Amino acid sequence: DEFVENKNSRHPKGLWVLFGTEMWERFNFYGMRALLTLFMVNSLLMKEADASIIYGGFLALCYLTPMLGGFIADRFLGNRYCILLGGTLMAIGQFLLFISASTFGSSVGTATTIMWTALGIIIFGNGFFKPNISSMVGSLYPKQEKSKLDSAFTIFYMGINLGAFLGQLICPLIGDVKSADGIRDIHAFKWGFLAASIAMMVGTITFLILKNKYVVTPTGRPIGGLPKHNTSEDFEEGEAQTAKFSTASVGIAAVLFVILGSLFHFALGQNVIYSLVYASGISLAYLIMSDSSLTKIERDRIWVIYIVSFFVIFFWAAFEQAGSSLTFIADNQTDRHFFGWNMPPSMVQIFNGIFVVALAVPFSILWDKLRNRGKEPVSPFKQALGLALIAVSYFIIAHNVKDLGNHGLLAVKWLILLYFIQTCGELCLSPIGLSLVGKLAPKRFASLLYGVFFIANAAGYALAGTLGSILPATGDKFEAAQKIGVNLQDVLDKKVVLTNDQVAAFEKAQLPLQNP
Ligand code: GLN
Repeated sequence: DEFVENKNSRHPKGLWVLFGTEMWERFNFYGMRALLTLFMVNSLLMKEADASIIYGGFLALCYLTPMLGGFIADRFLGNRYCILLGGTLMAIGQFLLFISASTFGSSVGTATTIMWTALGIIIFGNGFFKPNISSMVGSLYPKQEKSKLDSAFTIFYMGINLGAFLGQLICPLIGDVKSADGIRDIHAFKWGFLAASIAMMVGTITFLILKNKYVVTPTGRPIGGLPKHNTSEDFEEGEAQTAKFSTASVGIAAVLFVILGSLFHFALGQNVIYSLVYASGISLAYLIMSDSSLTKIERDRIWVIYIVSFFVIFFWAAFEQAGSSLTFIADNQTDRHFFGWNMPPSMVQIFNGIFVVALAVPFSILWDKLRNRGKEPVSPFKQALGLALIAVSYFIIAHNVKDLGNHGLLAVKWLILLYFIQTCGELCLSPIGLSLVGKLAPKRFASLLYGVFFIANAAGYALAGTLGSILPATGDKFEAAQKIGVNLQDVLDKKVVLTNDQVAAFEKAQLPLQNP
């Protein structure tokens, strides 16, 4: 039996290859996320509210495209090629952000166009990369070793966050640079994006070199190759059954998609991405439920997945403030001295990664201990706890900012405490949600139900953008506007015309307001 030799070693070596690949990829993603909104506001002269909406929409699309990436892998390319393709696309996208951040000095318009292109490429890159690397972790374990999966995913989640930590350390250090008197070097962002691009290249090349040697069965057969060459049945999840939908239900789902999309867009005034994400999620959920082969029990289980997915939306909407409103607060309203060192604003979010790496293992030990005593809380309880914790984290911040006024500063320890509590919430909700879907989904609908679950994340991200945009404009431009005696929001909305002296005053403070 080819698995015998593997029994003693705890995890297959391939896990460490996937760990390393994902670590570099998350370095690129989260390092860029740390800088993106600050770059849009400071270099591309966008309003903070607009930057938030773009940020949320971008993240939402990053979690909508995995449907496509998963589908293409299953049908045509296999996991390996999709990971290489996704990694290459993301490295190119990040390089274009580097170009954008190098050219805004001569033309903000050109730089903005390059940024849109870059974000579009990253969205597709992520769609090819993310679902395939996660499903390869699952495929590394033959059926009789599936019990190792929980611990495999805990290790993998640490790899994700080790990467996030490194990215949020390096990219802010070289890309988010302020002088001693607090003036930002708006030309430094490019180095952060370049570092992200290099990290993605390192990850892709690591995977390219090591995959044939290590991401294999113990007898050396490749895992995740082209679908038609995939002969390693032992390593496949499935009874190879796929869902077969009737033409009528596909038609109804399509009509539902159009109606809901238009409703969200026109009647509720939401942006196109928002509408796209919500309409896709709901119509896909309908399509799955319309399948006549589902038994009563299967239906009930799918309802549980839908209910959990619905609540997950609010978690990610609150969580993803990290790269927008919480970064703006860290930038403009926070005393960031940490053990005597003034942290770059975009680095404050690093505490999420630090706490995940520190707490992932203790949390999984805690659940194990409770399980052995028969006291492990059920998954929906854990998820409710996750939601409660993220709510508490914002109460603490709300309490501490309420008396700050226009000039007061929040101590950075409160943001660190916020990230600590949020991370405890994330560890109750995020890994558990993924395995809950795995446990409840009928096999033949598993990928599609993961699709619904990821779209719920996407919906959360779109909402995150909208929530972030409510944050009132503050910060350097706000201060400068106050000194000049104009209302910043009116200026940004172009409701007032500035005199040449006023424009010059903004420019003197290195806060140009109008496109050159
Ligand atoms: N931080 C995790 C990651 O990047 C989880 C994100 C999510 O599931 N929405 O993979």
